[in-house]
Amino acid sequence: MAETIVAKRQLGNGRWDRVLKRRMVELSVADNYDDAKEEWIATGEVWWGQDDNVPDWVENSQMGIGKCLCGHSVVYHFEIVNTENGVVECVGSDHINTYLIMRAIAEDTQLPVDAITDEQIQEWINVRVKSMKAKAWWKENGPSFEMMFNAVKEMDLHYNTRIVDTIWSAELERNEPVRKLIKRGSGNFGSEFYRMASIVWRWNHPDNPKAQINTTGYPNDNLMKDLALFYVKSQQLQKEFVEYQTERENRKDEIIERKRLARLAREERERLAAEAERERVRIYNLPENVEKRRLEQERLAQQREQQRLINERRRQERLERERIALEEKKARANRVLLEQSKEFEYGCANYGIPVFDASFASNEWETDFLVDIKERMVKKKTLSPRQRRTLVDIMKRNMPTEKQLQYLKDLGYEGVVKTKKEASEKISELKGDE
Ligand SMILES: [Zn+2]
Repeated sequence: MAETIVAKRQLGNGRWDRVLKRRMVELSVADNYDDAKEEWIATGEVWWGQDDNVPDWVENSQMGIGKCLCGHSVVYHFEIVNTENGVVECVGSDHINTYLIMRAIAEDTQLPVDAITDEQIQEWINVRVKSMKAKAWWKENGPSFEMMFNAVKEMDLHYNTRIVDTIWSAELERNEPVRKLIKRGSGNFGSEFYRMASIVWRWNHPDNPKAQINTTGYPNDNLMKDLALFYVKSQQLQKEFVEYQTERENRKDEIIERKRLARLAREERERLAAEAERERVRIYNLPENVEKRRLEQERLAQQREQQRLINERRRQERLERERIALEEKKARANRVLLEQSKEFEYGCANYGIPVFDASFASNEWETDFLVDIKERMVKKKTLSPRQRRTLVDIMKRNMPTEKQLQYLKDLGYEGVVKTKKEASEKISELKGDE
């Protein structure tokens, strides 16, 4: 059925040719075929004679549906028109001769008629009969092709492949082979080592730019042969393939179910946690608990206050002890420094310093120092050179100033003052400040 139409170079003297020539001349302005043929051109309209939408130019042709102008039965109809008088007719593929076509191509391409090649003519025919051929093919083979193709397409995608890699499948939770469709078969058809190319790939795979569904519109012979072979083989593979698919589907379902249960469990945990939190907040905010916390806060505040008072009392006690200790120390210092002692007076004379008392010290350290020195002197201990130097320094620093002495004199004081401190006290006393 998928016949190849080859245009005749020119009409001969066969029976049908002669009839056609005669009828073309009858329908032309010219009265002989050589001139008449110049008047006709193929329009490019074609019709496959087996569907219901009959075009007018077929319907209204002299010979009607299924006939060439020559009267011969045809499958493919080509429209031709006489450009001199507008007569429209129809010829079959047996009579769509080159001259009609060359004129059509010449008009399309603006090339001179004798420059047009056989390839261009064939291409013109191929383009126009392509869908007709496909239709014709489908009419004859469509149902069996569809049946076999639909029966094997899934198996084709599985079996007519080669494994090129493995990859982790999330939905199956395991490593799965990566299958690539075989695009070019190997081995001899039907032999033990025959590996056919994928049927789906060749027929209608979306990634295949040359898929036959888009090029010729119907499967070629090799594809049909492979389909028939694989269809037979698929009967034996059916059980195995179903098991393969079932295992995968079951596993997917199990995984989905497991995830669903895990999700439910998680949601339940979250729900319980939220509920527990709400309950905790509710209890926290119960009036009695609010009151309990308030009392506890109060108790803690009281405790802190008590502690603060205790600390403050201790601090005061410590300060008081320190004050008493300091006073005791001062009293002792004064007592020591006031005490009359022959040994002391003798020591002072010996070291060439005044007989000192507490008024000689200008600070606590000096007081302690003087007490210590006096005790040594009383016990007749020798002073170190360093102690002696310090002693002399203190004496000098605490001598009454010239100014003080003059002031005392001015105030009419005639006594003796040993130190700055004594002078200052005396001045105050005389001025009546106390
Ligand atoms: Zn004919």
